[in-house]
Amino acid sequence: SKTITILNLPFINTTNQQFISNLQKKITTKQNTFIVTANPEIAVYAYDHPQFQKLVQTADYITPDGIGIIKASQIIQQPLKERITGFDTLTSLLEIANNSSLKVYLLGAKPEVLQKTVKNVKKKYPKLQLVGSHDGYFSDDQEIVADIKQLQPNIVAVALGYPKQEEFIAQHRQLCPAIWIGVGGSFDVLSG
Ligand code: UDP
Repeated sequence: SKTITILNLPFINTTNQQFISNLQKKITTKQNTFIVTANPEIAVYAYDHPQFQKLVQTADYITPDGIGIIKASQIIQQPLKERITGFDTLTSLLEIANNSSLKVYLLGAKPEVLQKTVKNVKKKYPKLQLVGSHDGYFSDDQEIVADIKQLQPNIVAVALGYPKQEEFIAQHRQLCPAIWIGVGGSFDVLSG
């Protein structure tokens, strides 16, 4: 489908509903999928850091996560249909996981935030399989890598902030054919 390019990034031009329906198909067919939910800060950072820009351009979907991206699209007279946020996308993925008993791995945030997030996710989405989690303050990723490789989750939500989360995903996405999504501060919200 069509994209609209802003600051050298091809943003998907779909509604949230169309996007989630596309992701549902990716999950069903076990296709390895990398999602960057790009707010203006990420887009500008990528523009200023060519290596990170290249990495973001390898994503399967770059979504407009912020009103600033929508505004920019209107200014260049190629209006994007909708804002698609990391938090909303994560929520939809957790709902899909709950409905289909999918395996989910959560990576990131401070230990106490992650702990509360795990508790809340288990309560709100009791039928999904929360197969593993790790906080976002590690120096060695070996244990996390081994876990993900062994557990083969369908969805890996990475909340390390940018550019760490996108770098982690680009480096490790071949561990399993999952939906890999960088979700920024989403666990801070889910923990509340
Ligand atoms: N974080 C982390 N490890 C780090 C740095 C950040 O797990 O080394 C977490 C942090 O605790 C927070 C999230 O990543 O939960 C970053 O949230 P923020 O709102 O700053 O997201 P950004 O806008 O940077 O993507």
